[in-house]
Formats: sequence, structure tokens, C-alpha cells
Amino acid sequence: HAKSHEPGTLSYFDAAMHDEAVHHVRLQAEVQAALDEQQFAVHYQPIVDLAAGHVHRFEALVRWAHPTRGLLGPGEFLPLMEETGLVVRLGRWILEDVCRQVAQWREQYDGPVNVSVNISDREFWHAGLVEHVLACLRRHRLDATCLTLEVTEGVIMRRPELAHQLMAQMHEAGLRLHIDDFGAGHSSLQTVHRYPVDALKIDRSFVSEILEGTQSRELVKAIIAMGSALGLEVIAEGIETLGQLAALREVGCASGQGFLFDRAVPGDRAGDLLGRSLVAEAEDAAPRRTST
Ligand code: C2E
Ligand code: MG
Ligand code: MG
Ligand code: MG
Repeated sequence: HAKSHEPGTLSYFDAAMHDEAVHHVRLQAEVQAALDEQQFAVHYQPIVDLAAGHVHRFEALVRWAHPTRGLLGPGEFLPLMEETGLVVRLGRWILEDVCRQVAQWREQYDGPVNVSVNISDREFWHAGLVEHVLACLRRHRLDATCLTLEVTEGVIMRRPELAHQLMAQMHEAGLRLHIDDFGAGHSSLQTVHRYPVDALKIDRSFVSEILEGTQSRELVKAIIAMGSALGLEVIAEGIETLGQLAALREVGCASGQGFLFDRAVPGDRAGDLLGRSLVAEAEDAAPRRTST
């Protein structure tokens, strides 16, 4: 490294590297302790059929009940875990815990249940992901159709050919595959149609602007048209208002999730949502909501 030959900088870089290594070791120990002590928890946000169907799907979203920092959302710890690779260990625990939860729900609920699990870049490319997923399913006597894996286009585009092989393997095993945050990256019809994908999840940024201008609305319409041409389901993320719900239905969006229906809630509370129609409930609640 050319810079480290300049007088006075060597010790600086050494110190910075040392700090980083210490931080990494500390984080690793902290994460391991958190896993051992069950500080992580998976919460579940319902994915709703916008034609007032009944809840049977959820997205798993991880939380960390940190002993000193309180309940942390993934934005506060995942980037660093992704950088250090610790996300692989966490992700494996999440898959196991999701399967445990689904098996438990199935004891009290007869209908189909499916949970979408986010798979980060590191996790996706880590050897043995599919084997781990299938082993978790087996341990809990679940069918592969109980799980959906969410992957972003950015992950796929890192190594398109290999991603295709891995996704084909997952899909052949019976797992469902969704493209997360669709439209936010360098999305194109060309990439998506070649991959074994079941649904596109429209990024929240489009949904939040759908009533504000024609552009987001046209984009959402285009994604839905494209999805239906390819035989893909389209799921809208981040629906917060009845106005957004109405606009999405008007352009033919079949499914969605968002705070309008529910936030991500702990597993036992999510279990209580199974079979309910959250669209009807949101609409029924509307007059009360506006009058108070
Ligand atoms: P994502 O997969 O796109 O998940 C949707 C995010 O939008 C979640 O944030 C969810 O709580 C939030 N959201 C849902 N509906 C609404 C709404 O109506 N309004 C608003 N403002 N937000 C809404 P969260 O839980 O903070 O997760 C953020 C991201 O962290 C996720 O984005 C995903 O990329 C990642 N992530 C979360 N859980 C996991 C996990 O278990 N494993 C991995 N690898 N990544 C995860
Ligand atoms: Mg997601
Ligand atoms: Mg998303
Ligand atoms: Mg997102």
C-alpha cells in the first residue's frame, strides 16, 4: 500500500485496522451471545390478498431485543452483519425459527400457510443454503411450499448465471421465489423473465407516491402489466392508507402488505391473524378512524 510508506501514516493505518479487528471480534461475540440467549426474534407481517381474501402468508422480519439498546430493527444491525458475514449465522437461525413457528401454527390452523424469508447477498451466495432450508423443513415436517425466499435483483445481478442455477435448484425443490424491492434497482423485463420467479414485490417508494403524481402510478401499472404477461403475481409493499389501497386495486394489483393491515408482529399474534380478512377489517375501521 503506497500510503503506508509515508512517514507518520503507518501507525495510523495500523491503529485503524486494529480497531476494526477488535470491533469485529467484539461484534462476533455479541452476536453469538445474542443467538445463544435468544435475543433475536422473528416478527411477521401479513401479506394480504387485496380482493379481501384471508390471511395465510407473512413476511418474516428480524428484530433484535438488545440488552442495552432496546428493540432494534434490521436497519440498525444487518448492514454490519452483512459486511462481516455474521448474517449467514443469523439467517440460518431465522430459517430454523420460521419453520418451528409455521409447524406450531399448523397445529392450530388447518389451511395453507406460507412465510417469505429475506435472503441477503451473503446468505444467497453462501454454500449450502438450499440444503439448510430443506433440512429445516424436514426437521419440522413441513412441505417446501410453506416457504418463500425473497431475493433482490442486485443479488441476482452479481452473478446472473450462477444465480439462475441456484434459483432453479430452489424452485425445483418446491420453494417459492419472490423478487424483493422490484423497481428500485436496475430492474428489467429481460432479467426477470429468464428466472424461475413467482412474484414481484413492488418497492415501497412507488406505493408511497402512488397518489401524488401520475409517474409512480404509471410505473406500478407497467409492473403489473409486465407481471401478468409473465404469469407473475405482483405484491405491493408499504400500503399505509385506504387511498393507496384503492389506487392499487384500480390498477389491478392482487396482493399487498403494509401498516394499513398490520405491522410485523410476534409469532403468536401473527397466528391469530390466520384466516382473517384484513382488507375488510381495514375498510370497516375507516369511518371510526376518520371520525376520531
Ligand atoms: P424488505 O424485505 O423490503 O421488508 C419490508 C420493510 O418495510 C420492513 O422493514 C417492514 O417493516 C417495512 N414496512 C412494511 N410495511 C410498511 C408500511 O406500510 N410503511 C412503512 N414505512 N414501512 C413498512 P424492516 O423490518 O425494518 O426491514 C428492513 C429490511 O431489512 C427488509 O426490507 C429486508 O431487506 C431486511 N430484513 C428484514 N428482516 C430480514 C431477515 O430476516 N433477513 C434478512 N437477510 N434481511 C432482513
Ligand atoms: Mg422483503
Ligand atoms: Mg421489500
Ligand atoms: Mg424494501
